[in-house]
Amino acid sequence: MNLTERDKKHLWHPLTQHQLHPNHLAITKAKDALLYDDQGNEYIDGIASWYTCMYGHCNEYITQKVSEQMQQLDHVVFAGFTHEPAIKLSEELIKILPENQEKIFFSDNGSTSVDVAIKMALQYHFNQGEKRGKIIALEDGFHGDTFGAMSVSGLSVYNGPFEDFFIDVERIPVPTQENFEEVKTQFLQLISEHKVAAFIYEPLVQGAAAMKMFDAKFLNELIEIAHKNNVLAIADEVMTGFGKTGKHFASDYLENKPDIICMSKSLTAGLVPMAITSCSQKVYDAFLSHDIAKGFFHGHTYSANPVACIAALAGIELLQSEEIQQNIQRIIKSHQEFDAKIKQHSKVKSTRQKGVIYALDLNVEMERYGDLRYKLFNFFMENGVFLRPLGNTIYILAPFVITNDQLQKVYSVIEKVLDTF
Ligand SMILES: *Cc1c(COP(=O)(O)O)cnc(C)c1O
Repeated sequence: MNLTERDKKHLWHPLTQHQLHPNHLAITKAKDALLYDDQGNEYIDGIASWYTCMYGHCNEYITQKVSEQMQQLDHVVFAGFTHEPAIKLSEELIKILPENQEKIFFSDNGSTSVDVAIKMALQYHFNQGEKRGKIIALEDGFHGDTFGAMSVSGLSVYNGPFEDFFIDVERIPVPTQENFEEVKTQFLQLISEHKVAAFIYEPLVQGAAAMKMFDAKFLNELIEIAHKNNVLAIADEVMTGFGKTGKHFASDYLENKPDIICMSKSLTAGLVPMAITSCSQKVYDAFLSHDIAKGFFHGHTYSANPVACIAALAGIELLQSEEIQQNIQRIIKSHQEFDAKIKQHSKVKSTRQKGVIYALDLNVEMERYGDLRYKLFNFFMENGVFLRPLGNTIYILAPFVITNDQLQKVYSVIEKVLDTF
């Protein structure tokens, strides 16, 4: 039996209706921007395996550092102990985060980083004697699949069985030039009841909403209103963090800084899972008390795993290297040239770009998880490119180390799609 056959026996895949999609391609190896399957075929990883492996798969610098750490200290309980990898990581991260961020709290994945942020925000008010239980979120946002994170995400047809158990959330439209006055009025109205604990948003790019992009200006104004009303602003940078928008964080495009920031995905460069929720001194201080119960009693077994911390440190070092920064500029320019070339194509409805994130909407209607999506996916794979279209959107978010030739190949397969579908 080959791997695909053996897989079917005991494995249950994420986000999969197994009756419709029983087969999973086996990947045996990955290097830089390439994935290899068990038949020896290679694929360009056009989405950096969900925006994680941004410095390339099996990056030698990172694996070397991690391998050294594994022989020094594998794991130790972080409640009560500390270690240099976590300390160093906090020091390096604070240097590149927006200037108001002061404290680093560890968890395991993007969803838990959001749950931590929500719990921090609720308890921040609770500790000060205010019962604020409502969270404002953006429509079409995606923040993860645990209960808190799922609750603040946009409504999805897949969440039906759970909707009755969501935490208290109000969703507002993404603020734009056209709707801003309305959205602002709604925002002020919600806040005026003094029941809102926090406002959560994906800054500038909503990843799971098919790379929907929006202006910094209007979001910036909402954050300002939040600040004035003691509503904590939570930036979910799980997707946008670490260079993808062209700056280290999407929040760097905004004048008003979030009180809390969620990070994961490329934090550990795709090596191992880890997440961080950072916050300002003001948030942290609300948990200091002689009363032990005012502390933040949230913890995961693998919090601040030293190996994961070292992977993150190596990644952050690479992010700031001249080589990666030049790569980011190279990809940005390359996307712009591709965009100019295909924007007018009759099958292209619209295009958008922020940093190395490029997306185009096809001029066809289809269900988000409908047939065409799979046809497109298969077409890309047959042509040696791994892309994961969402609805009628095709997007590229490749590792920073993708070569020019590989980029050109991704573009040419997209052009082929335009002439085929
Ligand atoms: C992927 C993602 C999450 C969830 O992260 P997981 O590690 O999959 O739990 C949360 N927020 C955003 C913006 C994401 O892109």
